[in-house]
Amino acid sequence: MRGGHPWVFAESVRSQNRDGRAGELAVIFDRKDQFLAVGLYDPDSPIRVRVLHTGKPQAIGPAFWKQRTAEALARREGLFDHETTGYRCINGESDGWPGLVLDRYGETEVVKIYTTAWLARLAEIVPLLSAGDRLVLRLSRNVREKAAERFGLEDGRVLRGAPFSGAAPFLESGWRFEADVACGQKTGFFLDQRENRRSAGALAAGRQVLNLFSYTGGFSLYAAGGGAAGVCSVDISERALAGARRHFELNRRHPAVARCRHETAQADVFAWLREAPPRRFGLVVLDPPALAKRESERPQALGAYGALMAAAIGRVNKNGILIAASCSARVSAEEFFALARQVARKSGRKFEVLKTTGHAPDHPAAFAEAEYLKCVYMRFPE
Ligand code: SAH
Repeated sequence: MRGGHPWVFAESVRSQNRDGRAGELAVIFDRKDQFLAVGLYDPDSPIRVRVLHTGKPQAIGPAFWKQRTAEALARREGLFDHETTGYRCINGESDGWPGLVLDRYGETEVVKIYTTAWLARLAEIVPLLSAGDRLVLRLSRNVREKAAERFGLEDGRVLRGAPFSGAAPFLESGWRFEADVACGQKTGFFLDQRENRRSAGALAAGRQVLNLFSYTGGFSLYAAGGGAAGVCSVDISERALAGARRHFELNRRHPAVARCRHETAQADVFAWLREAPPRRFGLVVLDPPALAKRESERPQALGAYGALMAAAIGRVNKNGILIAASCSARVSAEEFFALARQVARKSGRKFEVLKTTGHAPDHPAAFAEAEYLKCVYMRFPE
């Protein structure tokens, strides 16, 4: 904790003067009974306390929260211009709001909550988080039941503003998107991949592009805008693919997007890579969901990443590029990059690593577990 780690696990609590309720402030003392930290208590999670402050005793109230919000906004100052109106404003622990994120999509803001501790404090914190016209509440799976039982709250509830369709329009690098904020994944869009999408767009000119695990076609649209001859988006979710087609529609005024041939395939990527006709692509994007959510799933996940990369390399044509990402916090960047090289070597083809990337600038990572995203770019000259 002294080194800045923001979690106290249940098994490391030596003694407690009483049971705590979700959202209460827990004061933590060291062996010598000296004040160590204060945090949010969560009896429902193995992460028993999420640290808010360490060092000297500190009053936690509206002034404290307001300052945290102001600091988070200051951290993003100058990152985005008027062409990008979708970004993360508050990134949980790393912005001093443990277990909570705030994303902005144009005029709509979304607060997503990952611990029951915040449910009891919602009325208190909402006015300190944001002042926009519309605020939507999203709940991670693990807090949904408690939210309904104890607070009558449901995922997707509009906390501020008039009811709406759930599609929030915003711009990213000038492209028009709609986040499915009411029921889409994360808070409706994968804001964390913005910089990789920009890179993909810059590499796409004249190429046939394959976007595996496309979700709503973020990479696909950038590739089209960057001059791709054609794009194939593959995802298991028809709703996600409908979003991808919609995003092409929304940007059709742009000649490069209008010219690009976009096709969607609803399929399990593992099966698609085995069974689809043996067509090769000049750019392949591979961005699967987190395959290792738990430590016990790690070996299996590494196997799956390896198999996916090997099959994806098989789809890359001469002089083609593979962009492979992993969002599993359990798989380190070093491990993932090493695996990519190993699989590429095994393919028997010549390759070069063009670059590797990490988390996005609006997703600061202040401790190891927060550094989940890594991405490698490889070119196959032959
Ligand atoms: N690259 C995307 C984000 C991908 S999220 C972006 O930048 O927006 C992961 C996606 O994988 C989700 O859309 C999910 O529907 C899809 N998915 C999960 N398992 C799948 C599978 N086995 N086959 C195909 N798609 C899958």
